[in-house]
Amino acid sequence: MQATVHVEDRGLQFADGVYEVCEIRAGRLVDERRHMERLTRSLGEISIPLPMSLKALGIVLRETVRKNRVHDGLVYMQVTRGVAKRDFAFPPSGTRPSLIVTARAKNRQQAEDSAAKGISVVTVKDNRWDRVDIKSTGLLPNVLARQEARKRGAGEAWFIDAEDCVTEGSSSNAWIVSGKTLITRPAEHGILRGITRMVVFDIARELKLRIEERSFTVAEALAAKEAFITAATQIVMPVITIDGRTVGNGKPGPVAQGLRARFHDVAEID
Ligand code: PMP
Repeated sequence: MQATVHVEDRGLQFADGVYEVCEIRAGRLVDERRHMERLTRSLGEISIPLPMSLKALGIVLRETVRKNRVHDGLVYMQVTRGVAKRDFAFPPSGTRPSLIVTARAKNRQQAEDSAAKGISVVTVKDNRWDRVDIKSTGLLPNVLARQEARKRGAGEAWFIDAEDCVTEGSSSNAWIVSGKTLITRPAEHGILRGITRMVVFDIARELKLRIEERSFTVAEALAAKEAFITAATQIVMPVITIDGRTVGNGKPGPVAQGLRARFHDVAEID
């Protein structure tokens, strides 16, 4: 079937919409409940109604996964404010939000191979607005940051704030490890409240790791034992260099690897 987008969809015209990405594992959705909660919150923050009930949306997601025969991969959903004559202010009430759902397979082995090697990150200035807690499709700064990472041979870019602290990655949350403590920035407006981040909190409790929710600088990350990123698309991915300088011993560390290994036993899967 051919899917189309209207030229006057506000998602296309203004990035007036929000999105979610869920991992698919053995044909099942990972952490659907939390992704749906965040979708509902993002929509609420910008006054877009849900396009359908969460139950119906769950069925659409599963049907999309099934029709595309995705065993391991990702399902993407986007909700926009709908189609209306181009005007910055909201369209007339009653305008139906648009829903886009796609699913695609991902090679699980390839992901495990890159986790075994670890990735490099580069740092870029955080030039985003102060509501990045809303999972908006307005991702131009993230696109440019990630392209910069690619240009410099890295897998991710870390945004740096005015105090020289890491906020988060272009599409991931950032962490460092000090002894038995995980350090990650508090989930205020400066970062996206990652679902993988929340699951890692649960795993940490189980593994008796402490969590410190606070900002950290690049210098501190370079002096840390380990660094890693989290995202539904990456699970827990070790970071081995920052701007070309080695973190820890330059290899994926045991803490990041331990969290990765436990992830799917702790995440909600159905
Ligand atoms: N921060 C940003 C900017 C992101 O785009 C993502 C990925 N959606 C994350 C963090 C990680 O969130 P999650 O664990 O829910 O995928």
